[in-house]
Amino acid sequence: MSLLEEKSRQLSIITQMAAGVAHEIKNPLTAIKGFLQIGAANPDLRDSYHDIILDEVNRIESIVQDFMMLSKPKSSVQLEYVNLEAIISYVSRLLDPDSSSKEVMIYHSCDSNLKGFYSEPKRLKQILINLVANAMESLGKDGEVQIETVVQDDELIISVIDNGHGLSEQELSKLGEPFYTTKEKGTGLGIMVTKKMIDDLDGQIRYQSSKGEGTCVTVRLPYKT
Ligand code: ADP
Ligand code: MG
Repeated sequence: MSLLEEKSRQLSIITQMAAGVAHEIKNPLTAIKGFLQIGAANPDLRDSYHDIILDEVNRIESIVQDFMMLSKPKSSVQLEYVNLEAIISYVSRLLDPDSSSKEVMIYHSCDSNLKGFYSEPKRLKQILINLVANAMESLGKDGEVQIETVVQDDELIISVIDNGHGLSEQELSKLGEPFYTTKEKGTGLGIMVTKKMIDDLDGQIRYQSSKGEGTCVTVRLPYKT
């Protein structure tokens, strides 16, 4: 590819992203403005729109946070000694209120050889939150999410396995595209941001899925003790 072609490819990606961000932020803003206008005209209705407005503000906040993460350079990674079991417990507890309302379960099993290792707790936590949230959002009744951690030589393999609705080949090929979502309240940014954080930590991510059966996401990270 010539330099000019590469430049025009980059510009096209930036243009698409800018259009996507503008669109995704404009939708909730339009809703907020509309509900505020109705509330101004009908003070009695104000309270009933409060939750919707808050939902929409949260949506904008989460889109902006995801974009801030994308723009963080790899050099901002701060390696620390990590207790992965504690992070997994934290993430399970954080997402547990969702599981109790849908009668779903989160299990986790850690390799008995797992010791502390060097990585970045902040990114690790966010990676797990995104993957476990997606797994939980795919579940029906009697759904289960399993988080498995295995140490293999100098690699740490974390698998997040669900028995949710799974993905077709065509859906799998779209994962990680900005704004690709099948959810009413999705942003379609989670996987893209997760992939970027895993790249920052010198790791890899892989999806295996069968429609109607479930999904297994495997994350491989360097295991430096
Ligand atoms: P969002 O969660 O906001 O939709 P993501 O980037 O996290 O955005 O995910 C994009 C899409 O990938 C989801 O809308 C969903 O269709 C699909 N997906 C991701 N993880 C899973 C999973 N574990 N099981 C089934 N579908 C999934
Ligand atoms: Mg998601």
